[in-house]
Amino acid sequence: MTEARLIDGRAIAAALRTRVAAAAAELRQRRGITPGLAAILVGNDPASEIYIRNKVRACAEAGIASFEHRLPADCGAAAVLELVASLNADDRVDGILVQLPLPPAIDPRGVFAALDPAKDIDGFHPVNVGHLWSGEPGFVPCTPQAVRLLLDNVHPNLAGAEAVVLGRSQIVGRPVAALLLAADCTVTMVHSKSRDAAAICRQADILVAAIGRPAIVTASWVKPGATVIDVGINRIAAPDGGVRLVGDVDFAAVRRVAGAITPVPGGVGPMTIACLLRNTLVAACRRRGLPDPLPQA
Ligand code: NAP
Repeated sequence: MTEARLIDGRAIAAALRTRVAAAAAELRQRRGITPGLAAILVGNDPASEIYIRNKVRACAEAGIASFEHRLPADCGAAAVLELVASLNADDRVDGILVQLPLPPAIDPRGVFAALDPAKDIDGFHPVNVGHLWSGEPGFVPCTPQAVRLLLDNVHPNLAGAEAVVLGRSQIVGRPVAALLLAADCTVTMVHSKSRDAAAICRQADILVAAIGRPAIVTASWVKPGATVIDVGINRIAAPDGGVRLVGDVDFAAVRRVAGAITPVPGGVGPMTIACLLRNTLVAACRRRGLPDPLPQA
């Protein structure tokens, strides 16, 4: 039995990070500009702590300055908005990252709307959401951009492909659908109210799973030869008593049916960080009226 080609997110991300680092070095040498990323972490969610640490480390490796801002979980929305306003006004900061999830008392939509759209490197401000759906240049959210770049690696031309996106969240499913539509796919979105998700998924040439349910996508959901991108990150109990990361796709089973597949970990995750670095670099250039240093997804 043949196995699906593995889409190596770590290797593809490493190549993009090298390009970002080279462009950042050139920006510094030629124009004296160091791109800067400000990260806001509210509370002390353990997974968020790890994500922020990884992002800060990745910035340092790419020659991007990073500024970490921590607020207590009970700080209230006003404190977050005040911090956002000060970062909007800080010229050292080109990109502002608000680590999700925020505490339940803080509505993320209000925080995103307060960001300067020119520094909204996560692409969640309504202006950037509108740009994405209307095909105008803006900031494309990092995880959806990662999905698109990983697909590019397998399919240089997606025109006409049947794409199914599992999940319709604002931060993953919807922007992934917008990007696939822009790439001329025929896009179907599946969510918790969809009837017979498995049957819809089985039609897909391109299947993107982003629902947060461990290994829910089994081999019977996948058309033979399809390309499967697994965005899910789920923490489950490991036999040794620890915790194991798994995606939304039953990797071992689906690998025997699909044509190409991303692993978890090592697929969309590392690529998301590379896209964050790229967006920060792009923001540093656009804010100063310089041309985009790297082509956008
Ligand atoms: P979310 O906001 O919880 O959205 C989940 C979506 O899945 C919703 O649209 C929901 O439908 C749908 N859904 C849930 N159960 C379903 C089911 N049984 N059948 C069909 N649809 C179902 O999640 P998210 O923020 O988009 O994240 C999704 C996953 O991606 C999570 O595992 C998250 O950790 C991961 N993630 C990974 C990265 C990365 O860098 N790799 C980045 C972000 C997120 P309704 O809309 O009807 O409720």
